[in-house]
Amino acid sequence: MVDIWNEALQGLQPRLGEQTYDMWLRPIELATIRDDTLQLTAPNRFMKEWFETHYLGVVLDEIQRRTQTRYSARIEIATPKPAPAEPAAAPAEPKPAVPVPAPAPARPLPPPPQGLSERYRFDSFIKGASNELAASAAWAVAQEPGQRFNPLFIYGGVGLGKTHLLHAVGHHIHATRPEQRIVYLSAERFMNEFIAAVRCNQFEEFRARYRETCDVLLIDDIQFIAGRDRTMDEFFHVFNALYESGKQIMVTADRVPADMEGMEERLTSRLNWGLVADVKSPDLETRAAILRQKAELDGLEISDRVLLHIATLVRSNVRELEGALVRVATFAELKRVPITEAFVGEVLSDLAQPLEPQTVTVERVQKLVATHFSLRVADLKGPRRHRHISRPRMIAMYLSRELTDASFPEIGQRFGGKDHSTVINACRRIKSMQTSEPEVRLAVEGLRRQLAPEGLAARL
Ligand code: ADP
Ligand code: MG
Repeated sequence: MVDIWNEALQGLQPRLGEQTYDMWLRPIELATIRDDTLQLTAPNRFMKEWFETHYLGVVLDEIQRRTQTRYSARIEIATPKPAPAEPAAAPAEPKPAVPVPAPAPARPLPPPPQGLSERYRFDSFIKGASNELAASAAWAVAQEPGQRFNPLFIYGGVGLGKTHLLHAVGHHIHATRPEQRIVYLSAERFMNEFIAAVRCNQFEEFRARYRETCDVLLIDDIQFIAGRDRTMDEFFHVFNALYESGKQIMVTADRVPADMEGMEERLTSRLNWGLVADVKSPDLETRAAILRQKAELDGLEISDRVLLHIATLVRSNVRELEGALVRVATFAELKRVPITEAFVGEVLSDLAQPLEPQTVTVERVQKLVATHFSLRVADLKGPRRHRHISRPRMIAMYLSRELTDASFPEIGQRFGGKDHSTVINACRRIKSMQTSEPEVRLAVEGLRRQLAPEGLAARL
């Protein structure tokens, strides 16, 4: 079967010219043929897209001519091999014998950004209420780097998709604007490179890499440099240089800038200049959707019921959720048993139990919020609209929605029978007040931490 492919490509070589063949056809490989579909792999997205738009049609025609069969094709991106053979160098203008659009990038394109995981793309990121703002903002940044939210600051607990979004932005910008020079790295690596550069007298190269030849800077886990004075200082200059020339900066962290102990004030204020968006623990529906996608990707046959059951047991974060699925699937395979709800319960029993006492209920939220604002729970449930009552009430509704599985109508019910639109409204207002009013944000964060301490299931 592979022969059809190779023969067709070689048959085309005289027509397309050797250079075009080497540059754009040879790297595309045939993995399998399923029915009438060729499964192809390309070394990267850029090659894939170029091949698809310029050569795929010609190749399929050639195969049809040889086999009398019309195939269609699906192209996947191969997992990267170490040290690719400089695919980004611009080829000389090929002179095809037949008119085929000639691939001739005007100047050498920068290589694809290093360190981005193939799996972390927008199309594999499940959006839900818990990450909607962050995901939409990341998407906006990916579409118009440097234009909308600069810097974009995404924060939240561990395993909630921050790194995933950061990579997704890098991939998307690279695919749509291959000329943009994208630099992605963790803040820890930034620090290590900085120290090494200073030590080895290579500061000029370091400066050039981050301040001059960088169009998009993606930094993961910025909290790492808090308290490291020289690195913070250097990052401050990098930030200013990029910001002033309109380059996109996107940063993730485990908490809001103001809460990073040891972070210089001039840095925290800059990190607040653009948009600050959080990722929260996903709600049940989102957890189930994430599991469904992962099961599909991994080719696991698990019913929706069972997936939902896993999603109910594992609430803390997405990484744990994925881990749980892998564990269940592995055990089932080893024991050669079907994956049922009972089996899941057995395999995940250690995850499920210790979390139970932590359950956050609407009642707990109401009590804590009332105490915090020196009110009575009855005030929160009552009708009074004075601001010193209505605001805590809205915060309590917001936290109930965020930390429990209660629906908007249920929450309205527990707050003295209010309409669900009142609850929706409250949640919206508190969400936006958190960016505009620091006291509200601090109150919400403090309360959230008390209800769902870090390290434990934030969502329980
Ligand atoms: P963080 O950087 O916030 O600690 P990651 O981005 O590393 O978290 O996410 C942990 C894992 O969970 C990754 O495998 C990631 O792909 C997955 N993940 C997180 N959020 C989502 C989501 N909304 N949809 C799909 N996968 C997700
Ligand atoms: Mg991360």
